[in-house]
Parts: sequence; structure tokens; C-alpha cells
Amino acid sequence: MTKKVKHLLGISGGKDSAALAIYLHDKYPTLPVEYYFSDTGKELDDTYTLLENIESYLGKKILRIKAAKNSHFDNPFDHFLNSYGGYLPSAQARWCTKKLKLEPFENDVVKNELSISYVGIRNDEDREGYISKKENIQSIFPFRKNIWSEDVIRSVLSNSNKLFMAEIALDTLKNGSVDIFTDLILKDVTESYPQKRKLNDLLTVGIKEFNQIVFNSLKDKNLPLSYEDVFPLVDNEDGLNRNDIFALLEKSGVGVPAYYKKVEFEVDGQKGYYSRSRSGCFFCFFQQKIEWVWLYEQHRELFNKSLEYEKDGFTWMSDEKLTDLIKPERIRQIKLDYIKKTERQAQNQSSEFLIDTLIEAEGVGCNACFV
Ligand code: SF4
Repeated sequence: MTKKVKHLLGISGGKDSAALAIYLHDKYPTLPVEYYFSDTGKELDDTYTLLENIESYLGKKILRIKAAKNSHFDNPFDHFLNSYGGYLPSAQARWCTKKLKLEPFENDVVKNELSISYVGIRNDEDREGYISKKENIQSIFPFRKNIWSEDVIRSVLSNSNKLFMAEIALDTLKNGSVDIFTDLILKDVTESYPQKRKLNDLLTVGIKEFNQIVFNSLKDKNLPLSYEDVFPLVDNEDGLNRNDIFALLEKSGVGVPAYYKKVEFEVDGQKGYYSRSRSGCFFCFFQQKIEWVWLYEQHRELFNKSLEYEKDGFTWMSDEKLTDLIKPERIRQIKLDYIKKTERQAQNQSSEFLIDTLIEAEGVGCNACFV
């Protein structure tokens, strides 16, 4: 049965979602992708520049959405901060992502309709991203060799589903690889043969074939792709890594968000480079100490605004107040520690975007805000 399915891509202001917009536009021009951006009201200017660049490349508008539209506060973050009694968000109490990103997405973009949400997590990352718990939203990961979300893979590879999946494989594959696929599908997931290995084995035999088997197995489910007759990404065998993303952005002319650009600093006669590693709110609690120093030295007005939020015992970092972080001796130490850390890690890295790799790899974060 065919039903209307929305194809959605959230632009976060980060490099990966920007690259995914370009990638889908170029590689799947007939896919009716709708683009949206959830504005927290506390973004860097560079994010808005990136949005404009993407719009001119796509020749299409990015839908701007904002939570708490009717609030008397002039931005959503302050509205919800007030309703949470001034309690600043943190990795443990991340009300901001839910209120500023996820709920506006579900309420103003998805609106209870069947929706495929494309997520720009790369092939060189080992994380899953935002998976909606709602059945009408299905996440797809075009940059990964495994385009499917964890819930789909868990169901497809589960021991209790193996006979059904083997039958689907027999119906789907007409070529010689059917026996290899069915043998693998019939193998139980065990402690010594974990799901991840089974998945890798199947992808190694044939990505397109595996995707077609998964796609056909969804027909009797109630997921958005259950209602699509064809899905062009089934044929996608690409796996895009970090350097591919930078290359794609540069080649398209959209460019890398300006906050990624390395800025040189000097401390005790030693040179180092810092930048910001991610999009999202300028005061995001996920940023590292060196990024706070970058904000202090490169965007003093934004740092001062961040400082104003630290009151009534609430701080952005659990172990340090911003007023302590900007003491000259503390800044010196943070820079020296950072230089030492990057030098140590540089011995094991070969990326031309080393500084960014290091900064990002050390952080954890929020997929809805940073991808
Ligand atoms: S960028 Fe950080 S502070 Fe802003 S909504 Fe996302 S997690 Fe929260």
C-alpha cells in the first residue's frame, strides 16, 4: 500500500548535516527532501551564514522552526530556562534538546505524518543518533554502509526472526549469493557471534542485496518505509568519512562553518590551534575547556552572555565556574594541557583536519544539535 511519506533532513548548523543536504540533493535529486532548522535562539552567527549558503546551493528554503513561538521571551532557550526555574541544562538533565529541538521537530515538521528522517552520522562514527520512539518516524543514515537504525537491525537480525528473514532473502535474491545470505541469516546471534559481527558479515557479502532484503522485510510492518514501493537508497553502497565531508563541503562551495577554522594561539612560547568543534548554542555545556577559552578570546560578547546565566548556584560546567576558567593562570594551563594532548594524539592520527578530529573525538554530544 502506498501512503504519502515525508522525507526530512534537519540542518543543525554542523558540517555533517550540511554535507548530507548536498549529498542527497546531488545523488538523489528526485527524493522530495524537506529541510528544517530548529532555532534555539542562542546560535552562532556562522550557523545562519551556513543556512544561507545551503539554501543557495539547494535552490530551496530551509524551514525555520522555533519552540515556544508565543512566549513573551524573545528566544526559546530563555523561555524554557524560566519554566525550569533557572536550572541550566546539562548532559544529565538535557531538557534543552527535548524542548528546543525534538519537540518542535515532532510537532511542527512531522505533525503525526509518516516521516523518514535522514541523519548525517558518518561511516567512521560509532554512535546511533536520535531515534524517535514514534512509529511514524524512521531514521535513515545515508553516510553509513549500514543505512538502517538500530531498532530495525535488531529486529532483522534477531534469532526469533531468522526463518522469516531467510524466506525474504530467498524471495528477494535471484543471484548466486542467496545461499551465502541465507546461511548467514540463519546463524544465531550469540556471545561469540554478536549482532555487530553478523551485520558486518552480511554487509561484506553485498550491501545492496542486504538492503533489499531489509527493505522487503519491512512490508508487513508499520514503519514509513513499509508504505514506499521503492526506496532509492537501497542501492547506496557509499560510506562517507570525516575527510569526505570536508571535501564535499569545500567542493560544493557551501564551505565549512566558519567556527571550525583554526585560530593560532601562543602560550609560553609554544604554538597551538583552537576552534569550536560543533554547532548549537554558543554556551553549550558539551563544549570543552579549550572551546570556552576560544569563546572568551574570539567572541567575548557571547562569552559574557554565557557568564550571565551562571547565577543562583547554577554553572555550565560541574567542576568549574566560568569566572574561574578565565583567570590568566587557568587559561594558560588549559592551553598548555591542550597542546600536550593534541601532540600526544597527533602521533596516532593522519588527518589533514587533525585539530578538528581531536576536538570532536574528545567530546560527546547531542546529535540533534551537532550532526
Ligand atoms: S546545543 Fe547544547 S545547550 Fe543547545 S540545545 Fe543542544 S545540547 Fe542544549
